[in-house]
Order: sequence, then C-alpha cells, then structure tokens
Amino acid sequence: MILQLRCPNCNVLLKVPDTAVGKKGKCPKCGADFVVPRYSKSDYKAVASSHHAENPRTGRAVSGDRHDDAEESEGYPLWLKVLVVAAGLFVVVLPLYVFWPKDKWEQNNKVEIIALANDAASLEKGGKDKEAIGKCDQLLGLVGDRKLRGDDLVNAVNLARQVKQRGEAEVARQAQAEKDKNLAEAVKQAQRDRKLQSQLV
Ligand SMILES: [Zn+2]
Repeated sequence: MILQLRCPNCNVLLKVPDTAVGKKGKCPKCGADFVVPRYSKSDYKAVASSHHAENPRTGRAVSGDRHDDAEESEGYPLWLKVLVVAAGLFVVVLPLYVFWPKDKWEQNNKVEIIALANDAASLEKGGKDKEAIGKCDQLLGLVGDRKLRGDDLVNAVNLARQVKQRGEAEVARQAQAEKDKNLAEAVKQAQRDRKLQSQLV
C-alpha cells in the first residue's frame, strides 16, 4: 500500500510505501529528515492542517492544499461520484421518459380507440363493410403515426388495420360482382334483342 503524507518541513505531498512507517526518511524536495508516522486518515488530516498553519507560504499554498484535502477527505474517486450522479439522473429521467407524456395521450384516448375497434369489428360481422372501414379510418386517423405502448391499444390498431383490409377487399369483390352481373345482364339483353329481331325478320 502507498501512503500519502506531507513533509513536516516544506509541506510537499509525498508518497511512501507503508513498509516505511516508523523509519527515517528524507524529503526529496527540501532534504529535511523525518520519521514516517503511523498512518490513519484522522492522523493525516491533523498533520496536514497543522502544517497549513505553520506553513510560511500561506496564501497560494494553503488554497492549493485545501483542494487536495477536500479530495482526499471525500474518500471516493471523482469518476465514481460522476457515475453515481449519472445513475441517479438515469433512474429519475427514465421513468419520466417512458411514462410521460405519451402514456397520458394513451390514457386520454384509450376508451375511444377501443370503442372504435369494437364498433368496426361488429359492423364487419354484420356485413356493413363500408361503415366498418369508416370506423377504422377514424381510429387510424386518431392514432396517426404515434408509437403506442399499451398492448390493448396496439391490438386495437392492428384489428382496425385488418378489418379495413378485409373490408376493402370485400367492397372491391362486391363491386366486381356487380360489374359482372351487369355485364351478364347486358349480354342476355343483347341475346333477347337478337332473338326478337330474328323473329321479326
Ligand atoms: Zn520537505
């Protein structure tokens, strides 16, 4: 383990191995001899602050030292503090982002969206495809390109899309059937006309 202490003469911050405790050392800066004291956090602080008072170069040195002391006394490295603050922010901001205000919109419109989907489904069952498509359009228009989160709302939108697709296919099929029927009718009419003509001739 590496210990930090201040030179009792010039107050420079020194790093020494814990094996040096109790032994005589020489400050590499000012050359003063001193015994490396038994280290503990409170001892160290006491030593450091007493030297501040004795330090003849008060002004600059003290303000710099105070900064060092503040960092050392907190005990946690800066990156850990930043990480804890970031984690705290994340925990507070994430639920806000997830649940608000999108879910508020869903809550306000949930009843209407589900009612529209149910209406569309029952109109489709009753064979009223155009009315069903109308309900689907109303629902899909209301939702727009919002990304919905609630399962029941997502299901309602999917149902509306399916009902609309089936309804449009059915409307197209009926229109085609109507066309075919008219064409067949026209052909029959033409045949009748020809028959009538041939009888007249
Ligand atoms: Zn020194």
